[in-house]
Amino acid sequence: MPMAVSPERPRTGVTRLTGGRLVKGDKLVEEDLWISSVTGKILLSQEAFYEYYVIPDQVIDLKGKILSPGFIDVQFNGGFGFDFSTIPDDMTEYRKGMRLLNKQLVSTGVTSYLPTIPSQKPEVYHHALQYLGPSGHARNPHEGSESLGAHCEGPFLSPTKNGIHNLEVLQEATHGFSDLEACYGPENLLPPNADGTRNSPITMITAAPEVTGIFESIPTIAKRGICFALGHTEATYEEATAALDAGATMITHLFNAMRPLHHRNPGIFGVLGEAEGKERPYYGVIADGIHLHPTTVKIAFNAHPEGFILVTDAMKTVGLPDGIYDWTNGDRWVKKGSRLTREGTDKIAGSCATLIECVSNFWNWTHASLPEVIRSVTSTPATMLGMEKEKGTLKPEADADLLILDAIESADGKKELKVEQVWKFGVKVYDHTE
Ligand SMILES: [Zn+2]
Repeated sequence: MPMAVSPERPRTGVTRLTGGRLVKGDKLVEEDLWISSVTGKILLSQEAFYEYYVIPDQVIDLKGKILSPGFIDVQFNGGFGFDFSTIPDDMTEYRKGMRLLNKQLVSTGVTSYLPTIPSQKPEVYHHALQYLGPSGHARNPHEGSESLGAHCEGPFLSPTKNGIHNLEVLQEATHGFSDLEACYGPENLLPPNADGTRNSPITMITAAPEVTGIFESIPTIAKRGICFALGHTEATYEEATAALDAGATMITHLFNAMRPLHHRNPGIFGVLGEAEGKERPYYGVIADGIHLHPTTVKIAFNAHPEGFILVTDAMKTVGLPDGIYDWTNGDRWVKKGSRLTREGTDKIAGSCATLIECVSNFWNWTHASLPEVIRSVTSTPATMLGMEKEKGTLKPEADADLLILDAIESADGKKELKVEQVWKFGVKVYDHTE
């Protein structure tokens, strides 16, 4: 008797994406990509096919579209009406708001991010940080965008470079690192686990090295596996160099809220020009068309392309219609397109641009190739965070967080990238073409 063959082949959870142009290093490569919704990871294609005879559940023809790793935003204060710094009386509302935000954010192509809290009173950190730590453990694609840990921007900042940060909450660390523990909560600054993995909800701290007690705290922060970023600072070139030697690895929104480049005192920007052999930092750039002139972005990129990271610094009004919005501190802010200002002033208050808009701007303003443009929101931020094996790459074993992008170049030379599909942990979670 022949063995009964089930008409239904067992499902493998494997998808083969074919006909796309994959972002790999500095090239666009025409290759297939095999992913698994069971592990949520990218498979080693030849192995899947030849060694395990895996037959994919589905084969999707990308018809020449760009296949990119999901975007990472390391400075994102909120969006779609939700603000990480606003603490409701009932924290279940906070959790609900964050879950909704994650589902909306993922549709824009940002598959992971650092929820960012600008300078606040200690109570805000004590309440919020427990919800903002890395959220990907459950690996549930339907939860949307994933937190890679919190970014605390302040409150140890220079009062003369505060930007829109509230001067009243800025602090010094007179007692060194223990003042940081008191401010953020010691449970939010724990040392890494024995295997080196991060054990703290905080992934990045932006502070000014010249503020009392901060320079001395940099080695401890770095040893806890937390990225130290220089920002909102009066630091000179010499002070910035010393901070990098002490363990700082990042500059927060280069040029904004810091000393400008002067030919006799290059300020922080000068460290991007360091001689070869010396470690140069990563640096965030807001390419929303408002914070920086396009040429400034171009100069910044050319100074050190490997460290260039696009960030949005977006506020809760991103994704909302134009209008006037109340802010936590009683201020009212005006949103017009991607511009956000304090009512009655020209003071820029973060941004309202999405990351894909910043990416398209950057592509238009520089001679960077498409892989270089995409790298600034994928592999470069992932490497800065020490997550280059899991995120921001299409290499096997990385998380299958993917975007299908349409690259449009019109006759007048204008270029635009559009997010067509978003995949999270090997599952399609958003399709703008449907
Ligand atoms: Zn800032």
